[in-house]
Amino acid sequence: MIKKAEFVVSNADPSNCPKPDRAEVAFIGRSNVGKSSLINALTDKKGLAKTSQKPGKTQLINHFLINDRWYMVDLPGYGFAKVNVKVKEGWENMIHTYLMKRENLCGVFVLIDSRLEPQKIDLDFLLWCGTQGVPAALVFTKADKQSKSKTSLNVHKFLEKTEELFEEAPDYFVTSAESGLGKEELLTFIEELVKE
Ligand code: GDP
Repeated sequence: MIKKAEFVVSNADPSNCPKPDRAEVAFIGRSNVGKSSLINALTDKKGLAKTSQKPGKTQLINHFLINDRWYMVDLPGYGFAKVNVKVKEGWENMIHTYLMKRENLCGVFVLIDSRLEPQKIDLDFLLWCGTQGVPAALVFTKADKQSKSKTSLNVHKFLEKTEELFEEAPDYFVTSAESGLGKEELLTFIEELVKE
Protein backbone atom coordinates (compact mmCIF):
# COMPACT_ATOMS: atom_id res chain seq x y z
CA MET A 1 0.00 0.00 0.00
CA ILE A 2 1.17 3.50 -0.73
CA LYS A 3 0.87 5.68 2.35
CA LYS A 4 3.20 8.45 1.30
CA ALA A 5 4.19 9.78 -2.12
CA GLU A 6 6.28 12.86 -2.69
CA PHE A 7 7.83 14.49 -5.71
CA VAL A 8 11.63 14.51 -5.51
CA VAL A 9 13.15 15.88 -8.71
CA SER A 10 12.80 16.25 -12.49
CA ASN A 11 15.74 15.69 -14.79
CA ALA A 12 16.49 16.06 -18.47
CA ASP A 13 19.84 14.36 -18.00
CA PRO A 14 19.69 10.77 -16.69
CA SER A 15 23.07 11.15 -15.01
CA ASN A 16 21.54 13.75 -12.67
CA CYS A 17 18.91 11.37 -11.30
CA PRO A 18 18.97 10.78 -7.51
CA LYS A 19 21.64 8.50 -6.08
CA PRO A 20 20.64 4.93 -6.96
CA ASP A 21 20.54 3.94 -3.31
CA ARG A 22 17.02 2.48 -3.26
CA ALA A 23 14.86 0.29 -5.46
CA GLU A 24 13.08 1.93 -8.37
CA VAL A 25 10.34 1.14 -10.90
CA ALA A 26 9.47 3.26 -13.93
CA PHE A 27 6.37 3.92 -16.04
CA ILE A 28 6.40 4.66 -19.73
CA GLY A 29 4.05 4.56 -22.70
CA ARG A 30 2.68 6.52 -25.62
CA SER A 31 1.60 10.03 -24.84
CA ASN A 32 -2.02 10.09 -23.72
CA VAL A 33 -2.00 6.40 -22.73
CA GLY A 34 -3.09 7.37 -19.21
CA LYS A 35 0.30 7.27 -17.48
CA SER A 36 -0.19 10.32 -15.27
CA SER A 37 -3.68 9.21 -14.34
CA LEU A 38 -2.41 5.77 -13.38
CA ILE A 39 0.42 7.17 -11.25
CA ASN A 40 -2.03 9.47 -9.50
CA ALA A 41 -4.43 6.57 -8.94
CA LEU A 42 -1.73 4.25 -7.61
CA THR A 43 -0.48 6.85 -5.17
CA ASP A 44 -3.93 8.24 -4.36
CA LYS A 45 -2.58 11.70 -5.07
CA LYS A 46 -4.45 13.60 -7.72
CA GLY A 47 -1.87 16.18 -8.75
CA LEU A 48 1.30 14.12 -8.32
CA ALA A 49 1.96 13.39 -11.99
CA LYS A 50 0.84 16.09 -14.36
CA THR A 51 -1.74 14.92 -16.85
CA SER A 52 -1.53 15.50 -20.57
CA GLN A 53 1.90 16.96 -21.19
CA LYS A 54 1.90 18.69 -24.53
CA PRO A 55 4.34 17.85 -27.31
CA GLY A 56 7.32 20.15 -27.51
CA LYS A 57 7.41 20.66 -23.75
CA THR A 58 10.64 19.72 -22.04
CA GLN A 59 10.71 15.99 -21.59
CA LEU A 60 11.73 15.06 -18.09
CA ILE A 61 12.39 12.06 -15.90
CA ASN A 62 10.36 12.56 -12.72
CA HIS A 63 11.26 10.82 -9.48
CA PHE A 64 8.73 10.27 -6.70
CA LEU A 65 9.67 8.85 -3.31
CA ILE A 66 7.16 6.26 -2.12
CA ASN A 67 6.69 5.33 1.55
CA ASP A 68 10.13 6.85 2.24
CA ARG A 69 11.52 3.67 0.76
CA TRP A 70 11.51 3.33 -3.03
CA TYR A 71 11.30 5.44 -6.16
CA MET A 72 8.51 5.52 -8.68
CA VAL A 73 9.61 7.16 -11.92
CA ASP A 74 7.45 8.87 -14.49
CA LEU A 75 9.26 8.75 -17.83
CA PRO A 76 8.32 11.02 -20.73
CA GLY A 77 5.89 9.41 -23.15
CA TYR A 78 6.73 8.42 -26.70
CA GLY A 79 4.85 8.64 -29.96
CA PHE A 80 3.74 12.21 -30.26
CA ALA A 81 2.40 12.62 -33.79
CA LYS A 82 4.08 15.94 -34.44
CA VAL A 83 7.55 16.00 -33.04
CA ASN A 84 10.60 16.72 -35.11
CA VAL A 85 13.49 14.34 -35.51
CA LYS A 86 15.61 16.23 -32.97
CA VAL A 87 13.00 15.87 -30.23
CA LYS A 88 12.57 12.20 -31.07
CA GLU A 89 16.31 11.58 -30.97
CA GLY A 90 16.58 13.50 -27.72
CA TRP A 91 13.88 11.32 -26.20
CA GLU A 92 15.56 8.12 -27.38
CA ASN A 93 18.91 9.16 -26.13
CA MET A 94 17.58 10.08 -22.70
CA ILE A 95 15.31 7.06 -22.23
CA HIS A 96 17.74 4.52 -23.60
CA THR A 97 20.51 5.88 -21.40
CA TYR A 98 18.27 5.89 -18.35
CA LEU A 99 17.00 2.34 -18.90
CA MET A 100 20.39 0.87 -19.67
CA LYS A 101 22.38 2.63 -16.98
CA ARG A 102 20.02 2.90 -14.03
CA GLU A 103 21.46 0.26 -11.76
CA ASN A 104 18.67 0.33 -9.14
CA LEU A 105 15.89 -0.12 -11.70
CA CYS A 106 13.86 -3.23 -10.82
CA GLY A 107 11.42 -3.02 -13.68
CA VAL A 108 9.72 -0.83 -16.25
CA PHE A 109 5.97 -0.84 -16.81
CA VAL A 110 4.99 -0.27 -20.41
CA LEU A 111 1.51 1.16 -20.60
CA ILE A 112 -0.76 0.04 -23.42
CA ASP A 113 -4.13 1.57 -24.27
CA SER A 114 -6.56 -1.33 -23.88
CA ARG A 115 -8.91 0.20 -26.47
CA LEU A 116 -6.45 -0.21 -29.30
CA GLU A 117 -5.31 -3.05 -31.48
CA PRO A 118 -1.60 -3.85 -31.00
CA GLN A 119 0.49 -0.82 -31.99
CA LYS A 120 3.86 -1.15 -33.67
CA ILE A 121 5.42 1.60 -31.57
CA ASP A 122 4.61 -0.28 -28.33
CA LEU A 123 5.87 -3.58 -29.68
CA ASP A 124 9.06 -1.94 -30.94
CA PHE A 125 9.71 -0.42 -27.53
CA LEU A 126 9.04 -3.72 -25.79
CA LEU A 127 11.38 -5.50 -28.16
CA TRP A 128 14.07 -2.92 -27.45
CA CYS A 129 13.67 -3.61 -23.69
CA GLY A 130 13.92 -7.34 -24.35
CA THR A 131 17.09 -7.07 -26.39
CA GLN A 132 18.71 -4.79 -23.79
CA GLY A 133 17.72 -7.01 -20.87
CA VAL A 134 15.50 -4.34 -19.31
CA PRO A 135 12.78 -6.19 -17.33
CA ALA A 136 9.43 -4.98 -18.66
CA ALA A 137 5.82 -5.72 -17.71
CA LEU A 138 2.65 -4.54 -19.44
CA VAL A 139 -0.07 -2.38 -17.99
CA PHE A 140 -3.21 -2.11 -20.08
CA THR A 141 -4.96 1.17 -19.30
CA LYS A 142 -8.46 2.68 -19.54
CA ALA A 143 -10.23 -0.68 -19.23
CA ASP A 144 -13.39 1.10 -18.05
CA LYS A 145 -13.77 2.69 -21.47
CA GLN A 146 -15.21 -0.39 -23.16
CA SER A 147 -16.74 -3.77 -22.43
CA LYS A 148 -14.76 -6.46 -20.63
CA SER A 149 -14.87 -8.64 -23.72
CA LYS A 150 -13.45 -5.89 -25.94
CA THR A 151 -10.65 -5.30 -23.42
CA SER A 152 -9.75 -8.97 -23.20
CA LEU A 153 -9.81 -9.26 -26.98
CA ASN A 154 -7.26 -6.44 -27.33
CA VAL A 155 -5.16 -7.78 -24.46
CA HIS A 156 -5.18 -11.21 -26.05
CA LYS A 157 -4.16 -9.80 -29.44
CA PHE A 158 -1.31 -7.88 -27.88
CA LEU A 159 -0.06 -10.91 -25.96
CA GLU A 160 -0.19 -12.94 -29.16
CA LYS A 161 2.12 -10.39 -30.77
CA THR A 162 4.55 -10.61 -27.87
CA GLU A 163 4.67 -14.37 -28.31
CA GLU A 164 6.23 -13.74 -31.71
CA LEU A 165 8.94 -11.68 -30.03
CA PHE A 166 9.69 -13.48 -26.77
CA GLU A 167 9.85 -17.02 -25.48
CA GLU A 168 8.22 -16.03 -22.23
CA ALA A 169 5.05 -13.95 -22.09
CA PRO A 170 5.51 -10.71 -20.13
CA ASP A 171 3.65 -10.11 -16.87
CA TYR A 172 0.61 -7.96 -17.51
CA PHE A 173 -2.08 -6.05 -15.66
CA VAL A 174 -5.44 -4.76 -16.80
CA THR A 175 -6.19 -1.44 -15.14
CA SER A 176 -8.42 1.60 -14.98
CA ALA A 177 -7.36 4.81 -13.26
CA GLU A 178 -11.03 5.73 -13.27
CA SER A 179 -12.46 2.67 -11.48
CA GLY A 180 -9.33 1.46 -9.69
CA LEU A 181 -9.44 -1.87 -11.51
CA GLY A 182 -6.14 -3.74 -11.24
CA LYS A 183 -4.64 -1.23 -8.85
CA GLU A 184 -4.15 -3.55 -5.87
CA GLU A 185 -2.81 -6.33 -8.05
CA LEU A 186 -0.28 -4.00 -9.67
CA LEU A 187 0.79 -2.53 -6.32
CA THR A 188 1.31 -6.00 -4.87
CA PHE A 189 3.52 -6.86 -7.84
CA ILE A 190 5.52 -3.63 -7.43
CA GLU A 191 5.95 -4.25 -3.68
CA GLU A 192 7.56 -7.58 -4.53
CA LEU A 193 9.86 -5.97 -7.09
CA VAL A 194 11.14 -3.28 -4.75
CA LYS A 195 11.57 -5.58 -1.75
CA GLU A 196 15.20 -5.75 -0.67
P1 GDP B 1 -0.57 10.56 -20.21
O1 GDP B 1 -0.31 11.52 -21.32
O2 GDP B 1 -0.16 9.17 -20.58
O3 GDP B 1 -0.04 10.98 -18.87
O4 GDP B 1 -2.17 10.44 -20.09
P2 GDP B 1 -3.17 11.10 -19.05
O5 GDP B 1 -3.09 10.45 -17.73
O6 GDP B 1 -3.01 12.57 -19.11
O7 GDP B 1 -4.56 10.67 -19.70
C1 GDP B 1 -4.94 11.05 -20.99
C2 GDP B 1 -6.46 11.17 -21.04
O8 GDP B 1 -7.06 9.91 -20.80
C3 GDP B 1 -7.02 12.11 -19.99
O9 GDP B 1 -8.11 12.80 -20.55
C4 GDP B 1 -7.48 11.17 -18.87
O10 GDP B 1 -8.54 11.70 -18.12
C5 GDP B 1 -7.92 9.96 -19.66
N1 GDP B 1 -7.74 8.72 -18.87
C6 GDP B 1 -6.59 8.27 -18.35
N2 GDP B 1 -6.76 7.10 -17.72
C7 GDP B 1 -8.07 6.80 -17.82
C8 GDP B 1 -8.89 5.69 -17.36
O11 GDP B 1 -8.45 4.74 -16.72
N3 GDP B 1 -10.23 5.73 -17.69
C9 GDP B 1 -10.75 6.75 -18.43
N4 GDP B 1 -12.06 6.68 -18.70
N5 GDP B 1 -10.02 7.80 -18.87
C10 GDP B 1 -8.69 7.82 -18.57
